[in-house]
Order: sequence, then C-alpha cells, then structure tokens
Amino acid sequence: MTDKPSRVFRIPVGQLQSNCYIYEVGQQSAVIIDPGDDDQYIIENLLKSDLAPAAILATHGHFDHLLAGFSLQAAFNIPFYMHSADKFLLTRMRQTAIHFKEADPGPEPIITKFFDNKTQEFIVLDATLTIILTPGHTPGSVSYYDKERGVVFVGDLLFSDGSIGEVTHAYSSRPDTKASIAKILQLPEDTVVYSGHGEEATVAELKEKFTWAVSA
Ligand SMILES: [Zn+2]
Ligand SMILES: [Zn+2]
Repeated sequence: MTDKPSRVFRIPVGQLQSNCYIYEVGQQSAVIIDPGDDDQYIIENLLKSDLAPAAILATHGHFDHLLAGFSLQAAFNIPFYMHSADKFLLTRMRQTAIHFKEADPGPEPIITKFFDNKTQEFIVLDATLTIILTPGHTPGSVSYYDKERGVVFVGDLLFSDGSIGEVTHAYSSRPDTKASIAKILQLPEDTVVYSGHGEEATVAELKEKFTWAVSA
C-alpha cells in the first residue's frame, strides 16, 4: 500500500442514489467519478474535504452518472473523460433525463477525450488509474483501478449486495457482464471495490457473492 493521499468520499446523489465519488489523487486534489446529479451538493462536499477537482471520469454513459457533469465542468473548468462506446447514451442523456425526471437537467457534459479499447491508463496527479474494460451493463462500461492504493471503481457492473447492473437493455450483455465481473474478482483480495450504487466491499467479500461469475 501507499502513504500517498487516498481518501474516498462516497456521495449518493439524485433520485436513483447513484454514487458520486470524490477520490483524492494528490496534494489537496481529487478526481470526481460519476457526477450523477446534485451539483451543489457535490461542490459542498469538495469544499468540506478541502479538495480541488482535477478531472471528471464516468464509469459509463447512463444519465444518473452524468447529469451534474456539465455544471461541474463549468464551475471548475476541468476535463471530462469516458469511453467512446457509450457515446450514444451521452447523446440521448438529456432526453432520457427529461423523460425520467420530468425536468430538463441541462446540457450533457462536454467530453474532453473519449477512451477507446486501446487506452490502458489514465494518469492524474499522483495516481495512475488502469482502465479495465468491463462491458455488459453498457458497451462502454469501464472500471478505474488504482493498483497502488488498492481501490477500483466499477460503476454499475456489480453491487456489494450480490446483484448486478441491469442487463436487459438491447445494448446490454449478460455474458459480457459475467466475464467483466470475473476480471474484477481477479484483482488482489484486499482491493476495495466501489460501485455505482450502495456500499463498497472487498474483492474477497465479493468472491463469495459472485461464485457464479468465476465458475466456468
Ligand atoms: Zn447504469
Ligand atoms: Zn446507475
């Protein structure tokens, strides 16, 4: 493990209580992962933790993980990254959100750079995040793994209660989700897994709940 700063703040936001994470990656600096809603609340938490955001990352393109993206970018003038395979979801974010929330959430975030299947890591300040492709819930779902700090952010791939992110959409794939979960469960057992909804769990704890995904 590391003595580098590595606090993780989990901030459930919006009607779906999607987890937005403030992840400390350097001296008083953080990345924001999945800014799903409630921009003011996220900003309050940044101020409280005394961390300045350096970048925003999305684990996938669902609106409940993106909605506050544009206003946070405007407030802090910071870049936003996600995988290109979920671009189609980003494009329909505003319409989907209007339908779901019956209110206009404003424009979608402006993506500074899309990751593709060849993007292996994302370096931000003191942290090197390995980008693990974990499609299934959506085709562009990725996990951000900080090997040095022993944490991984998996979005809606899996949840600590043993359930998985929805795979019934036309663009979802249950077999892909299974293979993606197997990838995450290969990480060191004490790795802390942070999901898009609910609490965190270690790889060791999750292995007991996802035996179906690791068995052949
Ligand atoms: Zn989702
Ligand atoms: Zn979600």
